[in-house]
Amino acid sequence: MHSVRPEEKATDGFAPNGGLTSTPAFLDAALTMLRQAGYEFLSLDEALQRIRSGRAGERPFAVFTLDDGYRDNQVHALPVFAKHDCPFLVYAAPGFVDASTEMWWLALERMIAEGAGVLEAGGVRAELDGSATAKWAAWGKLAPAVQGLPEHEQRQWTREQSRRFCIDLPQMCRDLIMSWDELRALASHPLATIGAHTLNHFALSRLSENEARAEIVESGRRLEQELQQPVRHFAYPYGNVGHAGARDFRLCAEAGYASAVTTRMGAVYPEHAGHVHGLPRVMVSSKYAEPRWLKVLASGLPGRMSNLGRRLNVA
Ligand SMILES: [Zn+2]
Repeated sequence: MHSVRPEEKATDGFAPNGGLTSTPAFLDAALTMLRQAGYEFLSLDEALQRIRSGRAGERPFAVFTLDDGYRDNQVHALPVFAKHDCPFLVYAAPGFVDASTEMWWLALERMIAEGAGVLEAGGVRAELDGSATAKWAAWGKLAPAVQGLPEHEQRQWTREQSRRFCIDLPQMCRDLIMSWDELRALASHPLATIGAHTLNHFALSRLSENEARAEIVESGRRLEQELQQPVRHFAYPYGNVGHAGARDFRLCAEAGYASAVTTRMGAVYPEHAGHVHGLPRVMVSSKYAEPRWLKVLASGLPGRMSNLGRRLNVA
């Protein structure tokens, strides 16, 4: 999951990042449903022990993780997790906490939502006339174009265009992301664990080995300094094939992380004991408005289908 907060509807319905948000009511219903279906809620450390033990016939388990360190995780998700006594893990990127890294996907949404005129990125051009139709068309063209830019160019583009549209990128982080004090408070909660999510939220596969290693190592180190506790787990930004691969799995193992998670869709199996730096996940959001979909996703079946029947997808 990413953001957890009550639904706010844009007046014209333009909310292209809405799939990154779940409501507290959805989370509550999903946890109730999974518990009734017999799932145990484990911390990631407990889950790793379970995977390694290779014991069959146990009840299925679920581990909840939230990426990016949104403040609403503490405000809206924590009370729901506490109600269900469910451990959870938040992956934070120090660049967001320091407000020095660009949340480009939200900046692009705001440019398109507020702007009129022409936007160009990576050779793609979109004209905005204020209509919802033009906004969705612009998002459909520009989001992949901006995501496709090399990481440093993408951020340069975001800074330049944000100046043009008077979007305050550091303020966006301060509005949405937990401060160091808030992260420390969350880290002291018995159900919460904090993991690392790189310094600057780059797609690691697109970086040189040295730069990828620095993002992996330094983010954990910085979090350990700030939180004064070990940081043992890592999540790859974006996290799918093309964003993180075998080299990055190796770098996380070399950096000493106990685990690293992707967004390759799937359930975990005992076979993952040898691949704990490329663990699959299931992305959850209110777009599966019915919590019962979560049971289908958790069953592992959609993951098996997308992995052509294989339990492992770690190449
Ligand atoms: Zn992320």
